[in-house]
Amino acid sequence: MDHKSIKMASIERQVDEESNAGDVIKNSVKTLISNQKQFFNSNATKSLDFRIEQLKKLKSAIKSSERELLDAVFADFQKGSFNTLVTEFSGVYNELDLAIRKLKSWSKSKRVTTHMANLPGASYIMPEPLGTCLIIGAWNYPINLNLVPTIAALAAGNTVILKPSELAAHTSAALSKMIAKYFDPRVLTVVEGGVKETTELLEQSFDKIFFTGSVSVGRIVYQAAAKHLTPVTLELGGKSPLIIAADANLTIVVKRLVWGKFVNAGQTCVAPDYVLVDKRIENSFLDILKEEIKLAQFSLENENYAQIISERHFDRLVSLIDPKTVLVGGEHDRSRRLIAPTVLTNIAGDDKVMEDEIFGPILPVLTYENVEGAVSFVKSRPKPLALYLFTESSSIRERIFSEVSFGGGAVNDVLVHLANDELPFGGVGNSGTGSYHGEAGFKAFSHYKSFIRRPTWFEPPLKYYPYKDWKLAVIRKLFGM
Ligand code: NAD
Repeated sequence: MDHKSIKMASIERQVDEESNAGDVIKNSVKTLISNQKQFFNSNATKSLDFRIEQLKKLKSAIKSSERELLDAVFADFQKGSFNTLVTEFSGVYNELDLAIRKLKSWSKSKRVTTHMANLPGASYIMPEPLGTCLIIGAWNYPINLNLVPTIAALAAGNTVILKPSELAAHTSAALSKMIAKYFDPRVLTVVEGGVKETTELLEQSFDKIFFTGSVSVGRIVYQAAAKHLTPVTLELGGKSPLIIAADANLTIVVKRLVWGKFVNAGQTCVAPDYVLVDKRIENSFLDILKEEIKLAQFSLENENYAQIISERHFDRLVSLIDPKTVLVGGEHDRSRRLIAPTVLTNIAGDDKVMEDEIFGPILPVLTYENVEGAVSFVKSRPKPLALYLFTESSSIRERIFSEVSFGGGAVNDVLVHLANDELPFGGVGNSGTGSYHGEAGFKAFSHYKSFIRRPTWFEPPLKYYPYKDWKLAVIRKLFGM
């Protein structure tokens, strides 16, 4: 065989192997889904006892695997145990306890009033599970972002196929191992992998898709879901602004800003992406910011300062640092994938760093002359996932919160709205659709079935022949026509 035909044979073999691998994925995905659908249709997941048992099992699985999960997150991007427990596990345990405690009341049918025209009768709204759900997670909080939606789906009585991000590969493997050990795969199972596996999953028909990730992949998921008319929740990202008014109590709020921006090395979907500060206090703000960054000890020397998840993400972030604009930081080390907390000043709205979500430890600072200017700047961009406002003034707060649309946010703090399970968490417009956390999560994975129950002892003659003027007059009255 000549060199050319050897090469052709090898390419053909590779194509064969790849399509065989593709077939294996397709077949095993199809089997998993069909087994889950069959199990769901047996009605086994619908009883409250069954659901509570799954939630308790998940809690004890996490408790027993805690060390392994913490080590996996550290192996993925050097995120230390303290930070992982505070920013990931706390939310997971809280959601589990809340769901176990509240499940009975969340899943009760609710009686609502019945319109006069339908009397006698009684109207109800009855939550029911959607069926077999696909949850696709992001890598940046790889325990929380995979398990919190899973808790909501199980609480609502669904079966779940979970696809964690391949970028946090150790955590994905640890979750898969834990879930395989404790769960019947007909109820909950993990499919590991990247684009190929996710694409295969997305071709199948699910009863719900819950996706956390970027806007661009969110579009792919939405299109795939549309093919099967599958309902989706999309938890996406975007550029979340932090507006600082001239009256802000800088010594307190800047401490909160520094923690919220640089924890996880800025790889937080709701981290403030950029600051808009009142021009009159720019200098004092920057002085305090510099000091706080020093105190916070997020630095290349801190062995718990999170790494950037991949070299690709590292290179993208470094390309956003224009040395002429660096006020603080700018140091980076590619071999360890670390970037120091970096503050950029003299930034304009059309600079490169202001184009896409930064998702790293880089904070551009822009100034504004008046509140109108800040409002119109934010409103000229896609609706953000979060908006933060540092001010002591209720009129500034009312103005900005009533005029600007955003997913959720806080006054005089950052990130904290996530930690209240009474607050539905989600985006709007480009930053996402739908919400979860607490009861909102249960709702995201439920269908609210409506029905009227009517007795048979009386049937008003209004809508039947013979049509009479008096009947129409009563109908007009009943409906305010
Ligand atoms: P990503 O969109 O790259 O990946 C998310 C998931 O999609 C992963 O599981 C990945 O395997 C899968 N995926 C990637 N490319 C795909 C493709 N072409 N087809 C099908 N599936 C594909 O996002 P990421 O890098 O993991 O996370 C970063 C983004 O997620 C940021 O934009 C961030 O703001 C956002 N995010 C949002 C939230 C939220 O709660 N709203 C939370 C965390 C992260």
